Amino acid sequence: MSRPGSAGADDSRCPRCRAPVLRQWVGRVAALYVVADLTPIDPADEHQIREPNRLTWCLVTGRWRPTELRWHHRNHIPNCTHQIVAEHRCTTEPTTLF
Ligand SMILES: [Zn+2]
Ligand SMILES: [Zn+2]
Repeated sequence: MSRPGSAGADDSRCPRCRAPVLRQWVGRVAALYVVADLTPIDPADEHQIREPNRLTWCLVTGRWRPTELRWHHRNHIPNCTHQIVAEHRCTTEPTTLF
């Protein structure tokens, strides 16, 4: 179901608030379907943004590979230089037609 010429991560927009987001299954064993903001956060703010219900992810990019989200946790590469993105949280209430 991927568009021709695209593989892996599917960057698109949130249907509700139209923010650019990245949708991807993350993890191999217990994969989690993640919708993450494409705008990187400041690592210094990560502790404020990260919550039990809102995870942060490493945005792994490369010239020869599609953009990929990775678990960002203690066992990750020490001092990794990836950009950090947070799970998308809609700032817009769902619009109702009635
Ligand atoms: Zn990383
Ligand atoms: Zn949204």
